[in-house]
Amino acid sequence: MFVFLDNQYHLLYSCSIMFPKKLEKYQVGKNVIFQLVKAKVTKKRIPARVFLQLTKFCNMRCKHCWVYQKDYQDEILKAKELTTKEMIDLINLLYDHGTRWINFLGGEPLLRPDLGKIVDHARNKGIYCETSTNGLLVDKKINELKRFHNVCVSIDGNRESNDAIRGKGTFDKAIHAIETVLANKIPLRLHSVLSGYTVNALDDMVKFFKNISLNSISPNVPSPTLKIVTENCCLPTIKL
Ligand code: SF4
Repeated sequence: MFVFLDNQYHLLYSCSIMFPKKLEKYQVGKNVIFQLVKAKVTKKRIPARVFLQLTKFCNMRCKHCWVYQKDYQDEILKAKELTTKEMIDLINLLYDHGTRWINFLGGEPLLRPDLGKIVDHARNKGIYCETSTNGLLVDKKINELKRFHNVCVSIDGNRESNDAIRGKGTFDKAIHAIETVLANKIPLRLHSVLSGYTVNALDDMVKFFKNISLNSISPNVPSPTLKIVTENCCLPTIKL
């Protein structure tokens, strides 16, 4: 089961059971698989994989994202970030409930000064640790990134589409981040949002993905539940 928790411990949503066969592809190890088998056998809902939001703040302003959209800005300004101790307590609580795989998200997770301490704690408990980053702080935070089992860098299509969504110059920065992660032999996943901006860049994306050593790719679409989705952020309707 996937579980998404925000900073205030709210359970936002849960979806889709992942079965061991699929998990082998992700090389997440026997700890996760054991929890999923246990969930299936006992028919209990176990939060084996958790998406944990480390911060609501970000150093980018992507057009498709909820982080700095008007409707959300008040929330952001009011939001109290969890302290290091609260994060560690939360990880302990999750572990006790069967969590063996955490994807540390944001906002931008590399903005957390205590990232190394938090991931070390999770790893020491035997939790498979992933993080997703926009790549801007990869040079500064490479020592923290080396502690993760897997690092995901976001890149949205080609230079034109990526920079239209994420800001001028961000494509080159994402490429630099990808090269840095690979040069440090950290397993890499790429994340791309499929939208009206990227739909014409799909061929370029496929060529690009083929040429680099990837662990996996995770395409995504802007959430239809948010009020922020502008026309161009949605995938165009395809007439059959
Ligand atoms: S980098 Fe990620 S969290 Fe930050 S604004 Fe872009 S999509 Fe949102």
